[in-house]
Amino acid sequence: MPSIFSKIIAREIPADIVYEDDDCLAFRDIAPKAPAHILVIPKREIVSLADLTDEDEAVMGRCVVVASKIAAQEGLADGYRLVVNCGDDGGQEVPHIHFHLLGGRKMTWPPG
Ligand code: C5P
Repeated sequence: MPSIFSKIIAREIPADIVYEDDDCLAFRDIAPKAPAHILVIPKREIVSLADLTDEDEAVMGRCVVVASKIAAQEGLADGYRLVVNCGDDGGQEVPHIHFHLLGGRKMTWPPG
């Protein structure tokens, strides 16, 4: 079932898009949890980490490389965090797999 992120991909709802290619899209989170908070998503509709198949390997790898490039563009030279929430216990709210790229402040560990 299409999620709100599919509507962002289709430009049916606005987003502050920072990167796009044939397979991935990246945009600023509307409720940032850090000075830099960008979501990197595959355009393919994959619900969560729990739904990945071997066919998703390339696009998910692409998303990680894209996140690394965006982190450099954002000037996150002191480090950053790349997070994927999965399912209810993982705190996932939007059922379209996404990487949270968080930076610009010191992160704490473990996450809540
Ligand atoms: O991992 P989780 O599913 O909880 O994260 C969803 C994220 O999508 C949230 O950080 C929320 O602020 C963001 N979001 C967004 N734009 C929307 C809807 C949700 O950036 N239109």
